[in-house]
Amino acid sequence: MSEIKCAFCKGKGKDPFNLLSKLAACQVCGGTGHVKVDEPMIECAFCKGSGIHPHSRLNCSACKGKGSVTHRGAKEECPICEGTGYKVDGNLPCSKCGGKGVIHKGG
Ligand SMILES: [Zn+2]
Ligand SMILES: [Zn+2]
Ligand SMILES: [Zn+2]
Repeated sequence: MSEIKCAFCKGKGKDPFNLLSKLAACQVCGGTGHVKVDEPMIECAFCKGSGIHPHSRLNCSACKGKGSVTHRGAKEECPICEGTGYKVDGNLPCSKCGGKGVIHKGG
């Protein structure tokens, strides 16, 4: 487990879109500016590490807004989304890799 800067608010601890109010705490890190992710981690392919859902002002559903996701073991590019993390027919994370863009090698 490793503590990283919250991607969604870029470590500021505030809601980046002021959806609730200017003073609202970031819903991903709870206002601390940091989140915990299990190691080893990789950048989330779906949001490209931004933590922001590519098609909304919500936190990324693949990494929960953290910008990084845990991936253990050998990895290879997801054959379904070709590494983009996108479901082919929509703005949702790929159901094969969950938005990571990679899958476990050999399965
Ligand atoms: Zn945050
Ligand atoms: Zn993400
Ligand atoms: Zn995929």
